[in-house]
Amino acid sequence: MSDQIFIYVLYVLPLGIPLIFFLIRRSRREKVAEETWQENVESGLTEPASLHPVIDPNICLGSSACLLACPEEAIGIINGKGVLVSPAHCIGHGACATACPVGAIKLVFGTEKRGVDIPQLKPNFETNVPGIFIAGELGGMGLIRKAAEQGRQAMESIKKRGRGSASHDVVIIGAGPAGIAATLAAKSHGMRYVTIEQEETFGGTTLHYPRGKIVMTAPMKLPIFGKVNLRETTKEILMKIWEEVVVKTSIKINFGERMEKIEREGDTIYVVTDRSSYPTHSVLLSIGRRGTPRKLDVPGEDMEKVVYRLIDPEQYRGKKVLVVGGGDAALEAALAISNEPGTKVTLSYRSNAFSRVKPKNRQLTEQAGASGRLSILLESNVKEIKPGNVVLDQKGTKIDLPNDAVIVCAGGILPTPLLKDIGIDVQTRHGTGSFDQQSLHSKRPIP
Ligand SMILES: Cc1cc2nc3c(=O)[nH]c(=O)nc-3n(C[C@H](O)[C@H](O)[C@H](O)COP(=O)(O)OP(=O)(O)OC[C@H]3O[C@@H](n4cnc5c(N)ncnc54)[C@H](O)[C@@H]3O)c2cc1C
Ligand code: SF4
Repeated sequence: MSDQIFIYVLYVLPLGIPLIFFLIRRSRREKVAEETWQENVESGLTEPASLHPVIDPNICLGSSACLLACPEEAIGIINGKGVLVSPAHCIGHGACATACPVGAIKLVFGTEKRGVDIPQLKPNFETNVPGIFIAGELGGMGLIRKAAEQGRQAMESIKKRGRGSASHDVVIIGAGPAGIAATLAAKSHGMRYVTIEQEETFGGTTLHYPRGKIVMTAPMKLPIFGKVNLRETTKEILMKIWEEVVVKTSIKINFGERMEKIEREGDTIYVVTDRSSYPTHSVLLSIGRRGTPRKLDVPGEDMEKVVYRLIDPEQYRGKKVLVVGGGDAALEAALAISNEPGTKVTLSYRSNAFSRVKPKNRQLTEQAGASGRLSILLESNVKEIKPGNVVLDQKGTKIDLPNDAVIVCAGGILPTPLLKDIGIDVQTRHGTGSFDQQSLHSKRPIP
């Protein structure tokens, strides 16, 4: 008997204790994953934006390697198998697929329900429309380093087209990672370029990461500036680096200027913006996939006090602010500003309930409304924006509110119609068109 106890202590306990800890940890992880998935189902956030993993449950061993590799916490383990539990968080870096020890993960564009429009590009980044090129996330594959590298490579191809009779060699549209790198390349080649950016500053999507976000990237080489040796960093450090790049290299970017259409006359392409029209030999579209903020189309919307994204809640201290919209961005903006001292915030939404938002945001908004910290106007529409006030209509009743600032969070107009107008061939993917790991690290998607 004492021998049995000895054997038990010697062999079973050392194996059993870690196993018990493993099972407890795994069961906790599964519980969190199930709750996360349920929350996303309730919020209608079950569709990934673009490139995302599909995990084959017949191959998956539930090793958790994908979960540990995913920096966006998009994957969980449910019933012993990997599941994309937060599809809206997935940005498609493919770290999960690389980490999977049994090759159970493939990366695809779109789902059966939600198609993703991918413009068709030649290996030199030119579209089917001669002289119009695409780089960065708009072409299907995002990520900071890849977008920057594509911007640089696309400019090599554009340079090879030579000079036409137009006054510009290239117009670069968008100043995210792809547009910045392309602008640096254009300058380094002595090209006659114009870069336009609809926002008031550079950085593109990276500018809109949440405060303190951990950014996973890889070292990249920027023309003129040199090597940027980044792997894991924060949004703030990345923004400082973009600033250093733009200031040190003195590249010129026209901020607050939006491309509205592209026309052609013979060999010359005209990029028409809300300020001007640029004749050019080539165009680089590096406009990403976020699109252009949807406007309200009401009188007074062109005033400086109207913006389409919250950058810093502190700037609204002591002000009367109207936030328009009913999605997570609107609710989060209204809540953040209402937490600043001296603010008086009104949230206007045209529907009668906040239905497609995270439950936590809905709950916090209702609490802020009940406590009087936030004034909520459901079924209301903005009619006019004036220097010191805004006029709204709520179910036929006119409401006149004193106002210092308006933040419109009414979603974005996606770039596909614009691409189609230009004549660019766009194909919609519904979970087809996968990437293998090699192509993820090269420049082109597998068709
Ligand atoms: C939440 C989130 C987290 C992410 N985290 C990471 C990460 O950790 N690591 C990583 O590598 N990648 C990450 N990404 C992806 C990465 O940010 C993008 O792939 C990258 O920014 C794409 O660069 P881009 O230059 O192609 O486009 P964007 O960065 O989207 O820039 C496009 C620019 O074009 C401008 N523009 C659009 N339309 C017009 C117009 N009509 N006229 C003028 N200007 C226009 C826009 O205002 C914008 O500035 C993340 C993305 C998101 C959404
Ligand atoms: S593709 Fe990237 S963000 Fe999406 S689940 Fe895999 S590791 Fe996470």
